[in-house]
Amino acid sequence: MSRYTQPGMSRRSFIATTAGASLIALHPFSARAAAGQVHLRVMETTDLHVHVFPYDYYGDRPVDTVGLARTASHIADIRAEATNSLLVDNGDLIQGNPMGDYIAYERGMSDGDMHPIVEAMNVVGFDAATIGNHEFNYGLDFLKKSTAGANFPWVLANVATKQGAGPRDDTTLYQPYVILDRTVVDGSGAEHTLKIGLIGFTPPQIMNWDRRHLEGNVEVRDIVKTAEAFVPEMKEAGADIIIALSHSGIGPESGDMLENASVPLAGVDGVDAVVTGHHHLVFPGPKYETTAVVDAEKGTIHGKPAVMGGFWGSHLGVIDLMLEAEGGEWRVVSHESATRPISKRNEDRSITALVESRQDVLDSVQQEHDETLAYVRRAVGKTAAPLHSYFALVADDPSVQIVSIAQKWYVGEMLAGTEYAGLPILSAAAPFKAGGRGGPEYYTDVPAGDVAIKNVADLYLYPNTVRAVKVTGAEVRDWLERSAGMFNQVEAGSSDQLLLNPEFPSYNFDVIDGVTYEIDLSQPSKFGPKGEMMNPDANRIKNLTFNGAPVTDGMEFVIATNNYRASGGGSFPGADGSTIIFEAPDTNRDVIVRYIVEQGTIQPSADANWRFAPMEGSSVLFETGPKAADYIDDLKGVDIAPAGEGAEGFALYRLNL
Ligand code: MN
Ligand code: MG
Repeated sequence: MSRYTQPGMSRRSFIATTAGASLIALHPFSARAAAGQVHLRVMETTDLHVHVFPYDYYGDRPVDTVGLARTASHIADIRAEATNSLLVDNGDLIQGNPMGDYIAYERGMSDGDMHPIVEAMNVVGFDAATIGNHEFNYGLDFLKKSTAGANFPWVLANVATKQGAGPRDDTTLYQPYVILDRTVVDGSGAEHTLKIGLIGFTPPQIMNWDRRHLEGNVEVRDIVKTAEAFVPEMKEAGADIIIALSHSGIGPESGDMLENASVPLAGVDGVDAVVTGHHHLVFPGPKYETTAVVDAEKGTIHGKPAVMGGFWGSHLGVIDLMLEAEGGEWRVVSHESATRPISKRNEDRSITALVESRQDVLDSVQQEHDETLAYVRRAVGKTAAPLHSYFALVADDPSVQIVSIAQKWYVGEMLAGTEYAGLPILSAAAPFKAGGRGGPEYYTDVPAGDVAIKNVADLYLYPNTVRAVKVTGAEVRDWLERSAGMFNQVEAGSSDQLLLNPEFPSYNFDVIDGVTYEIDLSQPSKFGPKGEMMNPDANRIKNLTFNGAPVTDGMEFVIATNNYRASGGGSFPGADGSTIIFEAPDTNRDVIVRYIVEQGTIQPSADANWRFAPMEGSSVLFETGPKAADYIDDLKGVDIAPAGEGAEGFALYRLNL
C-alpha cells in the first residue's frame, strides 16, 4: 500500500486495490461513530479553473492530471461509503484555461446561458461554493451570469457593492454565508438535523488585479476582520458548526488585508474547519512548513482541520469531522485532513491515472469541450510577422519579443496607481524552445498570419505566473551578465569557434527589453552556468542604455518576469525573491492570449535591442533547426550564413562578428 501513500495522506485511511485502480477509503471514524456521534466528511475542490475534461487545451492533448470529471470519481466513492458528506468548492472556477476564455471572449454569457464549469458542478452536486479572485477577471456582469445557473448557493463575505459601518452593515455582492440544514445519521442510526454554517472569502487584492472591472463597483474587506464580524452572527442564527471556504492560501500568522489569510482565519473563534485554496498546492503535504500554528503533516492550523485540494481537479480535499452533541450543542471532538490525488507521477516521471472520468460529468460539457477544441485550433488574432525561435540565441527575436511586449503591457496596467507607477518597466523573457536537448525540431515556429490559442503554448511553454521585481541599474547589468553565460568566450580574430555553451539552458538566456546593450564575447562570462560568480572583473555587457542614456548603477527599474526567475530560479542577480513588488494572479500564457485577443493583430518584430559587440575578423558557428533556412532573410543587422550540417539533424550556421 505504501506506493499509493503520499506524505500528508493518512496511511491508515487508505488501502490500495490492484495497480491503477482507484483508492478505497476505510475511514477509521466510520467504525467509531457511537450513538450520538456524527461522522461528517467534508469534501473540497479548489482552483478548478474550468478544468472538467482531463485535457490540456493549450497542448491540444489529453492529460491524466486534471479535470473535475476525474475528481468526481473520488467524490462518488466517498458518497458511496460515507453516511454523511458535504461537498464544497473553493473558487477560481470560470477562468484559467481556454474553455474559460472561449466562453468569455467568444460564446459569451447571455441571460439563461449555462457556464460549463457550473453545468458540470451541478451534475456532480455541490452543497456550496465561494468566489475566487479569478472570478472577477471577466467583469461583474459576466460573473453574475455565470454563477446564476448553479443549483447550489454561493457565499462570499468580504466583497460588497456597498459598504456600511462594519461588515455586518455591508450590502455584499453574494450572500456572506449560508446555514444549511442537513439531516445526518449518527453511529446508532438515529437522525439529527445539523445546521452547517458556510462562509466564503476571497483575497482583497482583487481590487488591484481587476481594478478596471471593480473600481467604483465593489469594495473589499480584510478576510479575518470580516470573519470576526460574521461568525458570531452565524452562531446567533443557529449554526452548529462553521466551515470557512477560504479562497486564500496558508501564509503569514497575522497582518492586515492579507492575500493568504487562512492561518489567522483558522484562529478566529467559532470557525471549526477551513478549506483553503488559491496557492494551487496540497495541504496537508510537504509543500508547507510546520510551524507553531501549522501542522503540515496532520493538516491543522491552530489545531483546527484544514485542507487544500491542489488545483485543476488534481486532488480532492477531505476533512473528516467527528461531531458530538453536548447539552444540545454540537462540537468537533476529533478530526482528520487528507487529500486524494487523481494521478500519480512514477519514478520515470510518467503519469498514471488513479481514477477514471465520470461519464455523466464529461457528457454535461461535451459540447463546450468540442467548441473549445475548435476555438484553440482557430485564429484568435493575427501576427504581422512570423514568430519563431530559430535565431533566438544569436539575435533579438520575435518569439521572445512578443512575450516581453505582453508582460510589459500587463505589468504596466497592474502597477498603475501604485507607488511603483513612475518607474520604467523593462521586461525579461527567454526562448524556451530553442533546440538543444529538445532536438532540431524543438523550436517555436508560428508563421505570419493567423495565431491560434494552441500556438501560445508554443510561445510560452511553462505555466508560470507573472512577477514584477524592482532592481537597480547595477542589477540589470548583472542580470544580463548572468544571461550572457549562454556563450563561450571567443578569441579575437579566430574563425568558427562554437558559440553556444551546451551546459547553459536556453530558458536562462533572458533578453531584457526596454534597454539596449551589446554582448562582448571576447570577455569571459562573469557567472558560471549555475549562477555562481566566476570572473568578478569580467564584463560582457557593453553600451547598456535606457532611453539613449547610459544605465548607471543607482538607477531604478521594474522588470516584468515570471515567478520562477523572480523567486531565484537560475540565481539571477536582483532576482532572489526579495525584490518582488508584484505577484500576479495570472499566468504569462494567459497574459499573452489576452494581449493577442485585445490587439487583434500583433506586431512581434524584434526591435534589435541587443547584439553582439563587433569583433573584426572573428566568426563563430552555432546549430539551429533546419527550418531556420526559411527565415534567414528576415534577419536584420546580423551577418549569418549557412555553414552546412550540424550533428543529429541540426543545421550549422556561421555568424560573422
Ligand atoms: Mn487559482
Ligand atoms: Mg527586443
